[in-house]
Amino acid sequence: MPRRLTEANVLEVWEGGLDSTPTARALLIASMTMASRGEPDVADLPLSSVNTLLLDLRCGAFGDVLPCTTDCPACGDGLDVTVAAEELRPAAAGGRTGEAAAVPATATLTTGGFTISYRALTGRDVRAVDPTAPGARRTLVRRCVLSVSPPVDDLPDDVLDALAPRLAELDPGADTVLTLDCPQCEHRWEAALDIADHVWADVSGYARRVLHDVHALARAYGWSEADVLSVSPARRRFYLEVSSG
Ligand SMILES: [Zn+2]
Repeated sequence: MPRRLTEANVLEVWEGGLDSTPTARALLIASMTMASRGEPDVADLPLSSVNTLLLDLRCGAFGDVLPCTTDCPACGDGLDVTVAAEELRPAAAGGRTGEAAAVPATATLTTGGFTISYRALTGRDVRAVDPTAPGARRTLVRRCVLSVSPPVDDLPDDVLDALAPRLAELDPGADTVLTLDCPQCEHRWEAALDIADHVWADVSGYARRVLHDVHALARAYGWSEADVLSVSPARRRFYLEVSSG
């Protein structure tokens, strides 16, 4: 069961994620939902399951509506969209609350004279590969190959390229795509929405507000950070009001 975020672990996750790559950050936040040591490492879950965990966490801590801003690629007009978290749940993968797949799906492909058994990408794969490195996509695909018949040291590039789109098909919830309509020019397009980016923005905004309160109350009353954090948010708001009034 997903664990709810507390103020203390929002601060912890914000501090831990500050200097991380987006993937490491996503895994760090998703790992906050893992309550016990018996559960699998989030890095070994398929990407759709990481998205489900992040959405559950987002809805529990910050509400189930995500405000998004983007620009229309046709006319350049700015667009404000509110997205319901339910729209982002991977329907095909049964990605409803608490139903995230525990292990990556597997499949078999016969192409170029090889029969290849492969699995869906995990966060560990994405975290391990520098997306700007030459051949990054093929490196990712190679990591997902479980077995090849007949055995070969390295699969030819055209076989790896044929396998790449199959990985996405195996885990349809890995990428979250929204269909958008421009009210100005009626252009319709598909835009990718990164759930982890959204949750990180929420975590970051929340942490900064809390630290701002710590600063203001420490200054007004001479309290330490621990003193301020031990006061409930409602009482903190009261003290902030009277100290500034
Ligand atoms: Zn437009």
